[in-house]
Amino acid sequence: MVERIDGHTILIGLMAYPIRHSMSPTMHNNAFAKLGLNYAYLVFDIDGDQIKAGIDALRTLGMRGSNISMPNKQKVVPYLDKLDKTSQLTGSVNTIVNDDGTLTGYTTDGIGFMKALADENLDITGKKMVLSGAGGAGTPIAIQAALDGVQEISIFNRSDDSQWNNAKRNVSIINAETDCKAQLFDLNDQESFKNEIKSCDIYCDSTAVGMNPLQDETLVSDPSWFHEDMIVFDTVYSPRETKLMQVAKQANVKHILNGLGMMIEQGAAAFKLWTGKEMPVDYIKKIVF
Ligand code: NAD
Repeated sequence: MVERIDGHTILIGLMAYPIRHSMSPTMHNNAFAKLGLNYAYLVFDIDGDQIKAGIDALRTLGMRGSNISMPNKQKVVPYLDKLDKTSQLTGSVNTIVNDDGTLTGYTTDGIGFMKALADENLDITGKKMVLSGAGGAGTPIAIQAALDGVQEISIFNRSDDSQWNNAKRNVSIINAETDCKAQLFDLNDQESFKNEIKSCDIYCDSTAVGMNPLQDETLVSDPSWFHEDMIVFDTVYSPRETKLMQVAKQANVKHILNGLGMMIEQGAAAFKLWTGKEMPVDYIKKIVF
C-alpha cells in the first residue's frame, strides 16, 4: 500500500452508517492493485444528517466518486446534478461519479443482478419473474429487470410491512415507464404466491428472510412450487446456501444462485463508472471469497 499510494492517488468513498463491516473496500482496493490503478477506496461513517456535508466534501476534496449505502441512498438525491434512468425511477442512488464537479448518481444493484445472471449464461428478457421484497435490494432489481426487457414481474410483499408502499410505487412506475407488466400481491396470499411461482421463469427473493437472524427461514418451503427449468435466485450471500436454495435443490431446479455474483457485479459496474476499466471479477471472487 505504501508503494501504491502517493500524491496523485484518486480517492473513492463509501458513505453510509453503520458500514465498517463492508466488503467493498477489500473488493475495490484489490482490483485497483491488480490493475495498477492509482486509486484508493475508503469507508466514511456518514449518516442521514451528514450526507450533505459528505457530498460537499466529495466536491471539495476532488474525489472521483463514492458508493452510497443505507441510510443515504434516497437522502443523497437532492444534492446531485444528474441521475441515470434507473436512479430516476428508483429515487435512490448507490454510486456517484464526479466529473470535474458535476455529480451523477447511478444505481448499480439491478445491473449487478442482471449481470450475475448473464455470467451464468442466463437471459431473462421476455420472461416472467416473481420477486419477493421491495426494499433496498428489491426495488433496483425490479426496475432494472423491467428496463432491460423482462416481460412480466409479480411482486410480493407483506401488506402490513413498511415496504408495502414502496412495492406499490415500484409496480406503478414499472407499468407507467417500461414495457414490462407488473402486478402487486400480498405475500400473505399464499395461493397466489404458489400459482405465480409455478408459472414463472425466475423466482427472486430480495427479502431479509434467509439472512441472519432469519437464516433458518424460507418463504417457500414446498419444493413442488418449483419446476426444474426455472431459476431460483436468493439475493442473500451469507450464508452461501440459504434454506430457499436447499428447497430449490430438492426440486432439482437447474439454476440456483445466491447473491454473491450480484454483490460483486454491482461493484464491478461502479468500478467501471469510476475508472473506465473492467474489474477483474474472477480474481476478486477468489481473493474476497
Ligand atoms: P430492506 O430492509 O430495504 O428490505 C427488506 C425486505 O424484506 C422488505 O421488502 C420487507 O418487507 C421484507 N421482509 C423483511 N422481513 C420479512 C419477513 N420475515 N417475511 C417476509 N418479508 C420480509 O433490506 P434490503 O437492503 O432490501 O435487503 C434485503 C435482502 O437483500 C437481504 O437479505 C440482503 O442480504 C440482500 N441484499 C443483497 C445484495 C447483493 O448485492 N446480493 C445487496 C443488498 C441486499
